[in-house]
Amino acid sequence: IKAGGRNGFAFFNQAMAATADERHRLEVDFREGLARGEFELYYQPLVDAVTQQLRAMEALVRWNHPDKGLIAPDRFIAMAEDTGLVGALGEWILQTACAEAATWPDHVKIAVNISPVQFRKTNLLDVIMCALVDSGLPPERLEIEITERVLLEWQADHLSILHQLKNLGISVALDDFGTGYSSLSYLTTFPFDKLKIDRSFTRDLLARDHCGAIVCAIVNLGRSLDMLTLAEGVESEAQLRMLRAAGVDQVQGYYIGRPAPARDLVFETGRRQQA
Ligand code: C2E
Ligand code: CA
Ligand code: CA
Ligand code: CA
Repeated sequence: IKAGGRNGFAFFNQAMAATADERHRLEVDFREGLARGEFELYYQPLVDAVTQQLRAMEALVRWNHPDKGLIAPDRFIAMAEDTGLVGALGEWILQTACAEAATWPDHVKIAVNISPVQFRKTNLLDVIMCALVDSGLPPERLEIEITERVLLEWQADHLSILHQLKNLGISVALDDFGTGYSSLSYLTTFPFDKLKIDRSFTRDLLARDHCGAIVCAIVNLGRSLDMLTLAEGVESEAQLRMLRAAGVDQVQGYYIGRPAPARDLVFETGRRQQA
């Protein structure tokens, strides 16, 4: 037992070292990648559930790693948060997204994901203001998306930042709504503009009866609190039809449009849409 334990321990140490080593390498790569311009924003459409008119584009960050290829944000955002690098990344994202959006038709907003760690940094407001001023994008065209994780660490200054953003005309969406934390009381603490219903509800809409009931409940909640509702992860016509019937205001997902780099975006002009 003793020998086995020792072997087990040695193995454990090796595994730990490899992980720590890999993490460190990723961190070094990340720093260099940011300096070398290896990050890129993809954009995914958010459309009106009924008319399918384009309302906004959500910026989704990608890392074009020289050896590993395209890396999804789930694989580096947490590391960026742990090391504090998310501040520099977040600043680049806001600058790039606002500059890009300034070239789009006026009715199209840009939705930008904000990490909870960015909230803890005191300069989020300055960073957002700089991005707006530098790009010339009106604040009304910027929507920020925060998750319930921000609310978990809810502090008076978070609330104050959100209120200041709203006073500037920036809208605030609550992302991944319905997952995680069950308390709804924070919905009365801050007037969100939009509830983004997590894609797990959309996914199970056809398979599980109660998901339809939950979506309907969230839609009603949104209506009575004067918040828009959006369903994420729409992948089929059948899901779209059910969400429309439930009264969801906006939809987003592969069925509507996949995230694409800026160079691939095509906007229909108002005139062509009317014709
Ligand atoms: P999220 O904000 O909930 O973004 C939606 C994710 O769902 C995106 O994954 C998107 O590509 C994916 N998605 C969209 N439509 C569908 C669909 O129909 N089916 C399925 N299965 N998936 C769909 P992505 O781009 O990998 O981003 C994952 C998460 O990483 C995001 O979740 C967000 O929390 C975070 N993230 C992405 N970009 C940023 C960013 O610029 N800043 C920060 N702080 N976080 C980001
Ligand atoms: Ca989001
Ligand atoms: Ca989401
Ligand atoms: Ca998510």
